[in-house]
Amino acid sequence: MTAQRIDGNALSQQLRAQVAHDTAALKAQGLTPGLAVVLVGDNPASQVYVRNKVKACQDAGLHSVLEKYEASLSEADLLARVQALNNDPSIHGILVQLPLPAHIDAQKVIEAISPLKDVDGFHIASAGALMTGAKGFWPCTPYGCMKMLESIGYSLKGKHAVVIGRSNIVGKPMALMLLQQNATVTICHSGTQNLKALTLQADVIVAAVGKRNVLTADMVKPGAVVLDVGMNRNDEGKLCGDVDFEGVSQVASYITPVPGGVGPMTITMLLVNTLESAQRALSEK
Ligand code: NAP
Repeated sequence: MTAQRIDGNALSQQLRAQVAHDTAALKAQGLTPGLAVVLVGDNPASQVYVRNKVKACQDAGLHSVLEKYEASLSEADLLARVQALNNDPSIHGILVQLPLPAHIDAQKVIEAISPLKDVDGFHIASAGALMTGAKGFWPCTPYGCMKMLESIGYSLKGKHAVVIGRSNIVGKPMALMLLQQNATVTICHSGTQNLKALTLQADVIVAAVGKRNVLTADMVKPGAVVLDVGMNRNDEGKLCGDVDFEGVSQVASYITPVPGGVGPMTITMLLVNTLESAQRALSEK
C-alpha cells in the first residue's frame, strides 16, 4: 500500500480562502476581525512564527497587530498589555507567543487573556470547554488535525485512535477532540510500555512527541491513518516529523508529510478561531 498524502498546504489554502470570504462579509457589516500577537524577547524561531501568523492574517484581510517587547519586559507590564488588549474592541483574538522569558509566569499570562479572545485555546476556560463539550476555542494544532481527517471524509465513530504525546497544547486536546467524535482513544506518553503493541491496534495514529522515528512502519496497522505533528531536524538539518515518512507511507492509507502537513494547518486554524471570535462579538452586539 502506498499512502495518500493529506496536503496541509492545499487544505490550508482552501480554508484560508473561506476565511477571506467570510472576513469580507463581516467587513461589509462594519466589523474587521483583529488579532494581536505579542512577542517578548528575540527567540529566532518565535520571530518566524509570529511573522507568519501576522502575514497570514493580512493575506486573509484580517486586521493584525504585532507587539514586540524586549526580553526584560516585566510580568506586570505584560499583564497590563494583555488587559489593554482584552478591552480593545478592535481585537478579537490575543496570542502571546510562547516560550516567554523565564522571569514571566506563562500560565499566569495565559489566564489573563479573556477566554472570549483566547484564540490559541490555551486558557483553562477553553480547556474546560473542550472537556465538557461547551462552546470555546479549540487549540489550533489538534483542531487542524481534525480538519485534516474531515477533509478525507474519515468517520471516527468506533475507530481506535492512539495519540502519542500528552501535552496541554497538542496531545491532551487532540485526544478529547477524537473522543468527542466517538473514537475510542488511547493516550501514550514517555512512561507508556510497549508503544508498538498499542499503535498496532490503531485505526488513527497522531504522533506529537518531538522525536524522530517515534513511529516506524512495523508499528502501524495496514490502512491506518497517520497524522504527524512533530517538528524535528534530521541529520542534514532539514525539517522532519516524528514519523518515518518513507516507511510508514508503505503501510498507512493516509499520511501527513512534514513539512507541508499539520504545520500550515495550525496557523490556518488561528485565523478560523479569530474570525469566529469576531463573528461572536458581532452577534452579541
Ligand atoms: P511536549 O510538550 O514536549 O510533549 C511531548 C510529549 O511526548 C510528552 O507528553 C511526552 O511524554 C511524550 N513523549 C516523549 N517521549 C516519548 C516516547 N519515547 N514515547 C511516547 N511519548 C513520548 O511537546 P508538544 O508541545 O506537545 O509538541 C510535540 C511536537 O509537536 C514537537 O515536535 C513540536 O515542535 C511539535 N508541534 C508542532 C506544531 C505544528 O504546528 N506542527 C505545533 C505544536 C507542536 P511525558 O508527558 O511523559 O513527558
